[in-house]
Amino acid sequence: MCAKQLEFKGYALTDPSNWTDFKITAFKPKNFEPEDVEIAITHCGVCGSDVHTLTQGWGEIKVPLVAGHEIVGKVVRIGDKVTEFKPGDRVGVGAQIGSCLSCRACKMDCENYCPKAIDTYNSKYPDGVITQGGYATAIRAHERYVFPIPDEIESRHAATMMCAGLTVYSPLRTYGTGPGKKVGIMGIGGLGHYAIMWAKAMGAEVYAFTNQREKVDDCKQMGADHVIDMNEKEFWKPLAGALDLIVSTMDTFEEGMPFSSYLTMLYVHGKFISCGLPDTNNPMPPLHGFDLAGNGCLVGGSHVGSKKEIIEMLELARSKDIRPWIEELPMKDVAKALRGVKDNKVHYRYVLTQDLDGRA
Ligand SMILES: [Zn+2]
Ligand SMILES: [Zn+2]
Repeated sequence: MCAKQLEFKGYALTDPSNWTDFKITAFKPKNFEPEDVEIAITHCGVCGSDVHTLTQGWGEIKVPLVAGHEIVGKVVRIGDKVTEFKPGDRVGVGAQIGSCLSCRACKMDCENYCPKAIDTYNSKYPDGVITQGGYATAIRAHERYVFPIPDEIESRHAATMMCAGLTVYSPLRTYGTGPGKKVGIMGIGGLGHYAIMWAKAMGAEVYAFTNQREKVDDCKQMGADHVIDMNEKEFWKPLAGALDLIVSTMDTFEEGMPFSSYLTMLYVHGKFISCGLPDTNNPMPPLHGFDLAGNGCLVGGSHVGSKKEIIEMLELARSKDIRPWIEELPMKDVAKALRGVKDNKVHYRYVLTQDLDGRA
């Protein structure tokens, strides 16, 4: 199969003062290197990160900017040193597109914590080119950041696993989710819905926490053994000391959120792991030493996941037949999808399908 030339263009934000105004814009890809894979994008999921970035809640951005980091497509070209892929393979790319590959974290399958990690968009490659995401015709990536999609998982289903699925799989796996464990999932959106399904598939007893009453039945269908309405007064009291782990996907912290009360639900040495990243002006509520002393609990964070974890996660999805709840839209409707995410209207993840012609 001969190498096809692809035109790199995407739905780019060009005026940061209007965060949902996108123009089809050509951009320069990174230099094509021997370990790189070039992918014609077919699908891209819409992540809360895209909203935080485009609205500049996480800081200033450079335009034009193409967001999107739940990417699935077909390999169209490989570099001379690529060993894992061939043209025609169906593959994914997530929220991270590079790292140093030589530090302790990178060597220990923790490349998602490399100090030189490169984000898939709004970041910079070593060659100086600005990274651009998946609302586009194509992407280039080092093969370490390209993931094989099992035949049994359709591309539209695999797309949102690349960030939402992985972001919650990683802490669930790291902190021992399995039979005999009671695991709470707080915040049931794109990430939370995956977390319920993964935790159940891993054999845990699952407690879903939501403040949207209309989601109770959905949570049960996703596999939650218990659903807790966070609007109920002191909902944490009946669960004092019950949970081994809470994975929180909340990406805003309301004024007066009783964080210390949430921690009382943890068993001895239980862990509260936050996967959501609020805007920079929205810090976590303060804690006091006493809040951690009663049960010796731990509060921690988690950031996407490693290639090792994503391959395990895809195998779990394949073998247990787990599929996300998605709404599909053509890529030109990216603004509509982003507004749906911002207004918390999505059930439970948007997937954009390619509508740009990428043939040069
Ligand atoms: Zn590294
Ligand atoms: Zn994401």
